[in-house]
Amino acid sequence: MKFASLGSGSSGNATVIACGDVVLLVDCGFGIKDTERRLARLGLEAKDISAIVVTHEHSDHIKGVAPLARKYKMPVYMTRGTFLAREYGNIPSLHLIENYQPFSIAHLTITPVAVPHDAREPAQYTITSPDYGVLGVLTDLGYITPHVVEAYLTCDALLVEANHDLDMLARGPYPYSLRQRVASNWGHLNNQQTANLLSQLPLLNLQHLVVGHISQKNNTVELAAKSIDNILPEPVLNRIHYACQDEGFDWLAITPKK
Ligand SMILES: [Zn+2]
Ligand SMILES: [Zn+2]
Repeated sequence: MKFASLGSGSSGNATVIACGDVVLLVDCGFGIKDTERRLARLGLEAKDISAIVVTHEHSDHIKGVAPLARKYKMPVYMTRGTFLAREYGNIPSLHLIENYQPFSIAHLTITPVAVPHDAREPAQYTITSPDYGVLGVLTDLGYITPHVVEAYLTCDALLVEANHDLDMLARGPYPYSLRQRVASNWGHLNNQQTANLLSQLPLLNLQHLVVGHISQKNNTVELAAKSIDNILPEPVLNRIHYACQDEGFDWLAITPKK
């Protein structure tokens, strides 16, 4: 199993997970041409994608979902609330997730995780391969619940958000109402919250730790790293990556459990 990103941040997100001949896209916050260009960088074409799994209806996650699904007839999975929150137009093969029930796509098990975020029924996901283990994708949440910690305890690799630095957000360009929203319990994790979450997870089990959804206006990789790096056990420091808006991150391989 391997994973990569087409881009990560407040202006667009898409994570690619490939295992055997299954290629999943978690979210697609880029237009169709942009998505095709970004996929090419990873050696993929849109027709290689088996399905799109959507986390929530914010445009940095769904911009390309329905257009791709129509053009390439890809199945799309999302919660009922995410579906009802927007007008998507025709989605030829739509699978609604009910009550955060796990589901299968080929040999992969996808487990939705409820998170606190200002969307109608947001879900983050863990993706389990029987041979390779568990990949966690966790962005767009305002605070850490016990449920979230428990859901990500068994990860072998993790993509987690560190959206903003509280001081930068306070002094940054966003209007007051948007600053309040981002920092609220229904907004995004700040660097300290992400560090706090990580301190509750068995980090030595992680083959890769990717920090993403880093705001270009309210955070920097340096500030995120300053909060996060010093809580990581030594071996994990070599396994941490910071995703960026323009290029996401390149393929990271998860090796089978012994
Ligand atoms: Zn987002
Ligand atoms: Zn969001």
